[in-house]
Amino acid sequence: MYRTHHCGELNASHINQTVTLSGWVHKSRDKGFVAWVDLRDRYGITQLVFDADRTDKNLMESARGLGREFVIQVTGTVIERASKNPNIPTGEIEILATALTVLNTAKVPPFTIEDETDGGEELRMKYRYLDLRRNPVKNKLIFRHKVVQEVRNYLSSKEFIEVETPYLIKSTPEGARDFVVPSRMNEGQFYALPQSPQTFKQLLMVGGMDKYFQIVKCFRDEDLRADRQPEFTQIDCEMAFVEQEDILNAFEGLTRHLLKTIKGVEVDAFPRISYDEAMRTYGNDKPDIRFGMKFGELNAIAQHKDFNVFNKAALVVGIAVPGGNKYSRKDIDKLIDWVKRPQIGALGMVYVRCNEDGSYKSSVDKFYDQDDLAKWAKATNAKAGDLICVLSGKTNEVRAQLSALRMELAGRLNLRNPKEFAPLWVTDFPLLEWDEDTQSYHAMHHPFTAPKSEQISLLNSDPAAVKADAYDLVLNGNEIGGGSIRIHDKTTQALMFRHLGFTEEESKSQFGFLMNAFEYGAPPHGGIAFGLDRLVAILGGQETIRDFIAFPKNNSGRDVMIDAPAPIDKAQLDELGLKTK
Ligand code: ASP
Repeated sequence: MYRTHHCGELNASHINQTVTLSGWVHKSRDKGFVAWVDLRDRYGITQLVFDADRTDKNLMESARGLGREFVIQVTGTVIERASKNPNIPTGEIEILATALTVLNTAKVPPFTIEDETDGGEELRMKYRYLDLRRNPVKNKLIFRHKVVQEVRNYLSSKEFIEVETPYLIKSTPEGARDFVVPSRMNEGQFYALPQSPQTFKQLLMVGGMDKYFQIVKCFRDEDLRADRQPEFTQIDCEMAFVEQEDILNAFEGLTRHLLKTIKGVEVDAFPRISYDEAMRTYGNDKPDIRFGMKFGELNAIAQHKDFNVFNKAALVVGIAVPGGNKYSRKDIDKLIDWVKRPQIGALGMVYVRCNEDGSYKSSVDKFYDQDDLAKWAKATNAKAGDLICVLSGKTNEVRAQLSALRMELAGRLNLRNPKEFAPLWVTDFPLLEWDEDTQSYHAMHHPFTAPKSEQISLLNSDPAAVKADAYDLVLNGNEIGGGSIRIHDKTTQALMFRHLGFTEEESKSQFGFLMNAFEYGAPPHGGIAFGLDRLVAILGGQETIRDFIAFPKNNSGRDVMIDAPAPIDKAQLDELGLKTK
């Protein structure tokens, strides 16, 4: 038997017991007469003591030969410690060793296995198995496990069943490129890895499963942005005989359960706002509502004066920065530079200081008097002591720019408190989105999303105006879930494919299986998928998802530990009927 206890469990109640522990040598200190070794495993650290008076000489020697991260087994007696450590559960005791076996030696690790390590990101990723021994990383994986367990408990208690769907499939369009897998037995043919189990979960509904979920890997070959993983995990869900309201209630329930059990936080009913309102008020479809700074549109009060920049703009819009009047001229100039950076792309910024005495001082005083500026203050909800920042230009661009500024300033003002949780539903997304590159419409969510039934007739006359029964769950400025009510009849699905530019043959060859299924009694259905990695990171109060994934890929989509992707043998290529360049 390798151990009678683990390294986190012994305390004063075990004194005088003979125990055996196994683990890693975390640290050792040798004071000549006495040597201490901190033995570590997943559960904690227990101090071992070897002392010249009480320990056999050979054993003392072996203890001195232990290196960092050696794997050892120790038997000994639990004794009271002279100098106790109140910071750890095992701090009252130590083990007076009577036997020691080295189970395995270890090279000196390339970085210290400490909470604060000297290892850089790349090195830690290359030796991820060593990184996993560190508390901050280990604890995040344990945390993730707890979240997953709560998800399973909750959904199971609500009669959802977990069903696995295949990974070797045909393309499911979620707006990214597919990862493809060549088929050896069908030369020249390829599987696609699922971007999501979307069509399968819909087929499960046709199959009468009624309530489904799956904690499932999805694969999307996208140009990598910071903190995106080419493979990631979703909590994927689908329900039959539901309307949007049923889904929102069911998954508000799940989210509430997680916030309560994981964070001990109770939240009120989640606010709901439409996509249009989110864009108008926050310039963004995933607003962070932990703080205000709502947009105030100024077209009606700022245009038709002599200020041409505003007159030419499709949208003039501002936000009030709480306490921003204390910014110096230099601070404001820096802010203007910040919005003019290519990543943000604003052409300039107009500002108004809201003085404590109720007067205003703006960068456009030539064009606007105190009455005008008072109206701006009202529209942006600015108080004395605030600074109003105003951008103008093309509607979509300006909204994105001001949204970026809002988030940046809120960050600087510490308004984005990771301990606070502010979920909301964004609903009524447009069905279609215009793609400038291809000069065509594509599905904003995915092609299986149902248009609002009363708006189907608009598809021909004004496609951009058609709204969908599609919704996102947003938490602290992140989209953590998204879904929709689905089309469940062949005619509407065929109509949708036509609007997305598929010929009849194309839609038949790619999605014939789904449309056929719709002819055999498909129930009304809808669902949602949560991004598990991000959800766990937000609940854990962190911005990056990488540490919550045991073996993540880096920003170029590489696993630097196993060195993948990698070339394959010519023989393997031949077998697959593939050639390289
Ligand atoms: N399949 C969708 C996604 O991955 C989620 C859904 O519509 O349920 O975003």
